Amino acid sequence: MTELIVMVGALNADLGIRVAKLPAPGETVAGRDVETSPGGKASNQAVAAARLGGRVRLVGAVGDDEAGRMLRDRAKADGVDVAFVAVLPAVGTGQAIIPVDEAGENAIILIPGANGAISPGDIPDAAYDGASVVCLSLEVPMEVVVNAAVRAYAAGATVILNPSPFRELPDELLDAVDVLVVNELEAGQLLGPAQSFVAVDGAPALREALAPHGVTRFVVTLGAQGSVAVDGPAAAQIEPSPVSAVDTTGAGDAFTGTLALRLAAGDSLADAARQASVSAALSTTRRGAQASYADRDELARAIA
Ligand code: ATP
Repeated sequence: MTELIVMVGALNADLGIRVAKLPAPGETVAGRDVETSPGGKASNQAVAAARLGGRVRLVGAVGDDEAGRMLRDRAKADGVDVAFVAVLPAVGTGQAIIPVDEAGENAIILIPGANGAISPGDIPDAAYDGASVVCLSLEVPMEVVVNAAVRAYAAGATVILNPSPFRELPDELLDAVDVLVVNELEAGQLLGPAQSFVAVDGAPALREALAPHGVTRFVVTLGAQGSVAVDGPAAAQIEPSPVSAVDTTGAGDAFTGTLALRLAAGDSLADAARQASVSAALSTTRRGAQASYADRDELARAIA
């Protein structure tokens, strides 16, 4: 039977707005083409993996509203199991306001809603039943993330952590992580205050910082520069796919979702990251997050 991948975290209604340039502090800019679409890191990662043929379960929470129904329906349409998406009374579904400029760069304002109100008690043990890979991100309370990591690790699943948006990571969480996926900024934040991760050369410093927690496998995504996958002593530099990017929204989630899928399928970390890199690059060639994700045939053609 196909391996089960469980994504735990946020579902957001994304409000995308096209702007000529992103506003600087105090500046007003004109926006156009306002569009509501499904988003949130766990929801994006789940759809990325499911669209590529993965067996995926999404675990999180929405409000009892139109946005929550839209998010569950859209994930379901991609084949994602949404039975463990709790519907919380008295809070709205999470929202993200995302202006995107003409170069495809974005900025994000997050309104947590149900994502901020979910607690470990809203997630039954059965949510992790049969999971081969459990993938976590930080748009939900830290106690939910820690609890999920500990339960998933104890159940023998491979635990992937994408610590975004970055917060201080408790030891208990890092100790339960098998694979960390960070962008360049988060890699610098992991290294310590005012540190930056310097492209590929930064891998040894991050390896050293994570070693005390037994985290020996990690990937640093470097945007248009590709990524680096570190597995114990081995570091593989993964060149970016040459594409004309129009919108990088959700590229990181396409990367993490694809990586989770390929690790569940038994790939090495470097091979999984190579596929993730192509999948994420394809997502930058189209607008939006989930709407931009490749299906199995497109990824196969791009890799061939
Ligand atoms: P986001 O927050 O926009 O989702 P992120 O900061 O989490 O992204 P990035 O490092 O920007 O993650 O991008 C993730 C991966 O997407 C990169 O490692 C790369 O494989 C791919 N990618 C992003 N931008 C480009 C690009 N312009 N050309 C090719 N590949 C890209």
